[in-house]
Parts: sequence; C-alpha cells; structure tokens
Amino acid sequence: MTIVYKKGHDFGLSKNCISKEALKVIKVLQKAGHRSYIVGGGVRDLLLNKQPKDFDIATDAHPEKIRRLFKRCRLIGKRFRLAHVFYNGHLLEVATFRAELSNKKHKNLSIKKWCTVSNNRYGTLEEDLMRRDFTINAMYYDPLSDELICHPNALSDIAGKCLRVIGNPPQRYREDPVRILRGLRLATKLGLNLEAEAERQIIPNRLLLLHIPSARLFEECKKLFCCGAAQQIFAKLRQFQLLELLFPQTEYALENHPKAEAFEHFLHLLFNDTDRRINLAEPVTPAFTIAGLWWLPIYDRVKTQPNKRLTYIRLWQKKTDEIAAIQRAQVAIPKYILHLIHEIYRLQSYFKSRSKRNINGLFQARRFRAAYDFFYLLSKAGLADMNDCRWWETFQQVDKKKRDLMIADRINRSSTHDSHHQVKVEAKC
Ligand code: ATP
Ligand code: MG
Repeated sequence: MTIVYKKGHDFGLSKNCISKEALKVIKVLQKAGHRSYIVGGGVRDLLLNKQPKDFDIATDAHPEKIRRLFKRCRLIGKRFRLAHVFYNGHLLEVATFRAELSNKKHKNLSIKKWCTVSNNRYGTLEEDLMRRDFTINAMYYDPLSDELICHPNALSDIAGKCLRVIGNPPQRYREDPVRILRGLRLATKLGLNLEAEAERQIIPNRLLLLHIPSARLFEECKKLFCCGAAQQIFAKLRQFQLLELLFPQTEYALENHPKAEAFEHFLHLLFNDTDRRINLAEPVTPAFTIAGLWWLPIYDRVKTQPNKRLTYIRLWQKKTDEIAAIQRAQVAIPKYILHLIHEIYRLQSYFKSRSKRNINGLFQARRFRAAYDFFYLLSKAGLADMNDCRWWETFQQVDKKKRDLMIADRINRSSTHDSHHQVKVEAKC
C-alpha cells in the first residue's frame, strides 16, 4: 500500500484553518523533537468544507512524555491510553501513533475479551494510519510544514463522498463493533455514502455490539443523537435493527403499542427540534432525548401496572428506574442524566394543574423550560392536552399581572382538582 504525501495548500488547507490551541500543542510537541499532526475528523471536515467539531492530534511522543511537556495534562483510557491537554480553556485529545492488535496474535480471545483488552502497542505513523476506521479519517496534516499524509483512497473518497472502511468490513467490525455506529453516524451527518459492503455487514454483525461496555455505548449514543442529524440517524438505527439492541423497550413500543403512531410522530418532532437546536448552536441535553425514547414504555407500565399506594409522580419515578435498570445492560445512563430525566417527567404532571401554588411552582422550577418543551412536543403529537399547552404558551408571554388573571380564570373555569396535582412543586429542583 502506498501512502500519499501531498501539500495541504493544494487542497485548501493552511494553518489558518486550525484552532490556535491545536497549533500551539503541535508546536510544543515538534519543538521537543516529535512528529505531530492534526488527524481524523479535523482534516476530514475541512476537506469536506464543514466546520470541524474539534482538532485531534496524533504524535510519536509517548503518553508519559506528552504529560511532561504540558502543564495541564492528564492521561486517560484503559484500552487506549490518551493524553487530554487543557490549553486556553480548550481540551485537546493527543494520541500516540499506535498499531492495531493483530487478529492472529489474539485469535483465541473471545470477542468480549477482544473489545476490552488493552491496546497500547505503539507504532509508526503508517501503522497508525492503517488501524483507523475509515479512509477519510486516515489523514494527517502538519500545519507548520503544510505536509498532508493520507491513506491512498482518502482523497478520492473525499471527492466521491464515500465512507470506506479501511480493510475488510466484517473483520474491522469484529475488532471493534462500535465502528458500525460510527459509520452510520458519520455517513449521515456528513452526507456520505457508506460503502456497500460496509453497509451489508451491519445486520450480520450487529449483535457484537452487545459485548461493548454499556458506558461506552452511552457515549456513542450521545454522539448519535447530538450530532445534528438525529432524525435520519434514528431512522437508520431502526432500518438496521440497531435500535432494538440499544433501546429495546422503545423499539418494542414502536412495533406493538396502540399509541405507536403518535409516539413515532412525537419522536420525529423531538429529533427535528434537537437537530434544529444543534444547527443553531443552542444547548441540548441527551436527557431530553432519552426521556423521549422512554416515554411510551414508561407510560405503558404506569397504565398497566398501577400501584394504589404510590402517587402518580412516584409511580412514574419507579417505572423510570425500572426501565433504566433494564437498559443498563445495553446503554448505561449516568446518574446526572437520569436525575434530569426524572425531573422532566415529574414536572409534566403539573401542566394540567389548576392550583395557583402548583402553577407558580412549575413556572419557577429550574427545569421549567426543558419540561415545557417536552410537554409541547407531546401535545403536538396528540399525547398531551393541546389546550393546556396553548394556555402555558400564553402564560409565558404575558406580564405578572396578566399571569395572575390567567390563573384566577383557570381556577374559576375548573373546580375539579386531580389528586396528584396536590403535590407540592418545589421552586428549586
Ligand atoms: P467527530 O469528532 O467529528 O465525531 P472523528 O472522526 O474525529 O469525528 P473521534 O471519535 O474524535 O471521531 O475520533 C478521532 C479519530 O480516531 C477518527 O477520525 C478515527 O481516525 C479514529 N477512531 C476513532 N474511533 C475509532 C475506532 N473505533 N476505530 C478506529 N479508529 C477510530
Ligand atoms: Mg474528533
């Protein structure tokens, strides 16, 4: 295989395209005598005329050496040891050139062991290039010398908008099944065609994802749903039978529940909204998405497994914890995300409330905005009351005096209070 050496400026690259923090890290490494390059997504996105999310750096310096070179640096990762360099308020990932573990040497390992065995066999740039997942991710740019080093197919694949696995797709999926999800995400987000064999091998190899640690799958799901193309990615996850592995309760509800059509519409609206926010650089949280994915499975459990000793809110909480516990085998949701999911659900009940204390409490709740957005999407999909939603929309737009009048009017018009609305809403969540 002949690695391609080019000049970056022939492809529109220059050091002005690179963040000054990444440039600084590269300068420090090179001054200490090490080869160092911008690698992967940063180069790829620039060549595709997209804004890179971040600039990752690859170098021949070993992690311990990198740590000694930078004041604020920590080494992370079990399977792959990486350096996180903090500079000027930015985090840069610096990886030492590595060689892929050979399949032959580890042929007796089970796939589970293979995925967790540590791979810190350092290598040359050429070896590092071959262990990368896709040809267009195997590009290295040195902004100081303008040198561009690429996999032989990388530049033609960029031009042809093709996402091509380096090597044999089933073997590369077996080595690391997360590449299946990375392929779907990158192809969708960047508008590329995943090479036919790589696509064909997804379904036969998808069960390998069950061997991936559930915390890593959460990180990957976060990227899938927060990359600005969640709507299309969600459709692909279903098409390739991956949703049933990552979020089995959601897939089951979408296939079997009488409210499946409305739920699908709700998820469509939710992903649309998330994508719109990301493309406007507005903040998003994976808690909102996961609360959406779990909504019908939890609703179903609440309806079919009532518990007279619990309030409606406590019952939702209990069922949420049950789903989270089952889900932990596939995708482990961290505690802080679960906490936020609980809060979004808890506040939903109060949108129906006719009590002044509850209405004001909800309005002042710290998570009001996220809860309202969630309620709005449910209403739009026909899964919550649109009249309540319109009332709350107006309520947020008027001044304090008008808000008090609206509350008085709401109380007058309805004397019936649902028992679960009596629960106190704390002003601070
Ligand atoms: P983005 O950051 O835009 O999501 P990226 O390609 O930069 O995309 P990262 O997760 O930042 O993704 O990874 C950086 C680089 O590391 C990739 O471009 C790729 O070369 C390599 N890489 C990441 N994950 C894998 C993997 N599972 N197998 C092989 N190479 C990988
Ligand atoms: Mg990256």
